[in-house]
Amino acid sequence: MIIAHIASMNVCLFCSELLIGRADKKYCDVQCKNGFHNAQLKKTPSQELRILQRILQNRIQIKLLLGAESRKEVTYEELKSVGVDIDFFTHFRSKKGEKQPCCFEFALSLKEELVCIELVRESVV
Ligand SMILES: [Zn+2]
Repeated sequence: MIIAHIASMNVCLFCSELLIGRADKKYCDVQCKNGFHNAQLKKTPSQELRILQRILQNRIQIKLLLGAESRKEVTYEELKSVGVDIDFFTHFRSKKGEKQPCCFEFALSLKEELVCIELVRESVV
């Protein structure tokens, strides 16, 4: 009976101490609550890190799409279906007056229905 009662008791989400009081209590006190939230914030990637992750994901997916080819035309749907978001790129390059977004060694030429992916230079990574 006592064991069953203890098993149903909650522990503090921050320090794991047994909580005494309301059934919906999550923390011992305000210090544990703040400690938990600060720890959560540290786990959340920053905006810059999320952007970098998207760019790196784009590079991987573009590389897989291109395979051994150095140039390939794909639809926007194809790009989207493999998780490429063309809003995330590393830089632009100019080619024949066209401003092309690039993701590392890959340049994207955005046309009406197709995207031309071109391997601009060999990867140094
Ligand atoms: Zn606590």
